[in-house]
Amino acid sequence: MDPLAYFRGNFVPLADANVNIMTHAFNYGTGCFEGIRGYWNEEERQMYLFRLREHYQRLIASSRILGLTCPHSVDELCSITVELVRRNELREDCYIRPILYKGSSVVGVRMHNLDDHFAIFTTALGKYIDASEGCRCCVSSYRRIDDNAIPARAKVTGGYVNSALAKTEAQLNGFDEAILLTHDGHVCEGSGENIFLVIGNALVTPSPSENILIGITRASVIQIARDDLGISTIERSIDRSELYSADECFLTGTAAEITPVIEIDRRPIGTGVIGPITRKLQTIFFDAVRGRSRKYSEWLTPVYTPVAADR
Ligand code: PMP
Repeated sequence: MDPLAYFRGNFVPLADANVNIMTHAFNYGTGCFEGIRGYWNEEERQMYLFRLREHYQRLIASSRILGLTCPHSVDELCSITVELVRRNELREDCYIRPILYKGSSVVGVRMHNLDDHFAIFTTALGKYIDASEGCRCCVSSYRRIDDNAIPARAKVTGGYVNSALAKTEAQLNGFDEAILLTHDGHVCEGSGENIFLVIGNALVTPSPSENILIGITRASVIQIARDDLGISTIERSIDRSELYSADECFLTGTAAEITPVIEIDRRPIGTGVIGPITRKLQTIFFDAVRGRSRKYSEWLTPVYTPVAADR
């Protein structure tokens, strides 16, 4: 079946959801977007969308920072997304990409007096960072964009040049992922993930004022750590050297989920294998996202009408 996209108010074949080369956002990166995962639960024959509302609330926050106007409310965005996944009859893990962008075909760098367009597409997505035994990171030579340059708390399309440069540098140098520092040299985040350290019996992660994207997976992990494991999270600025001396380290993100980090700049982290706290968090998180945990069912939006059980 040819996939459908939601494009400027209509469900259309993905092949027809195209933008003109003069489109403002194509030229200047003037858009914001989200990445949402759908998890297929084979036993229930159900698709669960993870924290859909929170993603759209963040999209609206991004749009306010940039000066974009979304044509839909959060409720409408959630219903449109469910409808798109249903129409596409997706029955495997998937990724949903809503994008709100300056759609005018004009030349001129600005954010005002331009038309705002909105679209969503879906695609299949398995593991993002293929590192089941843990990934190897480097500290990037690129610094994270600053709040007063391109605000990192908004998920800005153009801002991802910063992430792409860091990711390519890391991979061409033989690492799986980059860890970017802020301009003043503190630990910020991965190219598409937040970062956590385990230091003693606490989680430590950069605070929102450290130019991070305030991740939805990050918030979920903080909640799981507190409610299931009794582990508190300290949000503070982190020195680079603390990366090397941490007991455990992991990355969180919609695409990356919870990815353990076993090495940074060729130094083993902790014992050099996936740590016990990271493993426990992964187990609870993966049960939650796939709908195997009643406790976190409010995080999930089911797509299909449940089939009545056989009597
Ligand atoms: N930081 C960056 C730069 C990202 O691109 C992402 C992925 N959206 C994250 C952090 C993690 O955010 P989330 O858990 O909401 O996907």
